[in-house]
Amino acid sequence: MPLEFDVRAKCVINATGPFTDSVRKMDDEEVPNICQPSAGVHIVMPGYYSPVGALGTPGSVWLCTVRRGDVLAAWSGIRPLVTNPDSKDTQSISRNHVVTVSDSGLVTIAAIREHNLQAGSCQTMGLQLEGAQDWSPTLYIRLVQDYGLESEVAQHLASTYGDKAFEVAKIAQVTGKRWPIVGKRLVSEFPYIEAEVVYGVKEYARTAVDVISRRTRLAFLNVQAAEEALPRIVDIMAKELHWCEQKKKPSLQPLPCRYKKRFHMFDKDKKGFITILDVQRVLQSISVQMDENTLHEILNEVDLNKNGQVELNEFLQWQRAAQLGSACCKGPPL
Ligand SMILES: Cc1cc2nc3c(=O)[nH]c(=O)nc-3n(C[C@H](O)[C@H](O)[C@H](O)COP(=O)(O)OP(=O)(O)OC[C@H]3O[C@@H](n4cnc5c(N)ncnc54)[C@H](O)[C@@H]3O)c2cc1C
Repeated sequence: MPLEFDVRAKCVINATGPFTDSVRKMDDEEVPNICQPSAGVHIVMPGYYSPVGALGTPGSVWLCTVRRGDVLAAWSGIRPLVTNPDSKDTQSISRNHVVTVSDSGLVTIAAIREHNLQAGSCQTMGLQLEGAQDWSPTLYIRLVQDYGLESEVAQHLASTYGDKAFEVAKIAQVTGKRWPIVGKRLVSEFPYIEAEVVYGVKEYARTAVDVISRRTRLAFLNVQAAEEALPRIVDIMAKELHWCEQKKKPSLQPLPCRYKKRFHMFDKDKKGFITILDVQRVLQSISVQMDENTLHEILNEVDLNKNGQVELNEFLQWQRAAQLGSACCKGPPL
C-alpha cells in the first residue's frame, strides 16, 4: 500500500519537464494540456569533428564523412514543448519559458530549452551555488600545489565542485607514483578520480547508474569508458555502503540481461515482439503522449526486417548499438 503524507507548504512548484501536465491534472483534472512531449537526441563525437583549433577558425565548417563507429555516446529523452495557457494563442508553442499559476496557487514552470529557463532578468542570476564562495579561476593551482593532483584533474575538480574540490582532494587516494601524488583516475582518458565516487556516496549517491551518469558524466561522454569504470565504481560503493556480493550484482549485470528485462516491460503478454500499441501503453503509463507518426518513424528504424513489429533480437541489436554509440537511441526512452 502506498503511504500518503500531508505536507504543509507556502507554495507548490511544478517543474517536472515532460510530466508538467500530469502534475497539473493532480491539481485540476479538467485543466487542458499545455505540454506536447517531443523526442530529442544527443550524440557525442570525438573532438576532431569540432571546427575550431588548428584546422579551422572558430565558426568555420568543413565537410567530412561521419562514421557510425565515431559516435562515442548517444542518448535520447523527451523535451517539453509548451504552450502558454495565459496567452491569446494557446495553440502555438512558446519560444520562451512558460510560468503559470493555477487558481489553487500551483506554480508551473516549463521550457523546451534549458537556456530558456535561465532568463536574463531572472532573480537567481547572481545567486551563489554551493562551492561558489571561495572559488576563483586559479583555485585549481592550489589543488595541484597543496595535494599533488594532476593539473587536468585539479581543473576538473575546481570547475565541478568549486571550493568543495578541497573536500574531494582530501579523500583522494595516494597513487604510489612519483606524480601525481594523489588522485587515481577511474579511466585513463577522463579526469574523473576514485575519490569522487566516495564523495558522491557522502552526497547520497546510492546507485552505480547515478555515479556514472550524474555524479560523473562518463555514461554520456563515452559509453565504453563508462562500462570499463563500472566494476571499480561498484567496488568503491560496496565498500562505502557495506554492500554484500548479492547487492553488487544488479549494478554489474551484463547489459543483455537488462535489455531483456526492458523488452519484457513492453512485451507484457509475452508475444515475443513489440508493437506500436505496446509502446503506446508504456508511454501512457508514464503520462507521455507522442504522435503516431513519430512513433512509426522510431519503430521503423528499429524494425530491421520490416515486418511491422520489433522482435527481441532487433531490440537487443538496437539497444546494444545505441549503448556503443553506433546507432542513435531515438525516441521514447525504450
Ligand atoms: C536529448 C535532449 C537534448 C537536449 N538538448 C538541449 C540543449 O542542447 N540545449 C537546451 O537548452 N536544452 C536542451 N534540451 C531541453 C532541456 O533538457 C529541457 O528543456 C530542460 O531540461 C527542461 O528543464 P526542466 O527543469 O523544466 O525539466 P527536467 O530537466 O525534465 O526536470 C524535471 C524533473 O522533475 C522530476 N519529476 C517529474 N515528475 C515528478 C514528480 N511527479 N515528482 C517529483 N519530481 C518529478 C524529473 O525526474 C526531473 O528531474 C534537450 C532535451 C533532450 C531530451
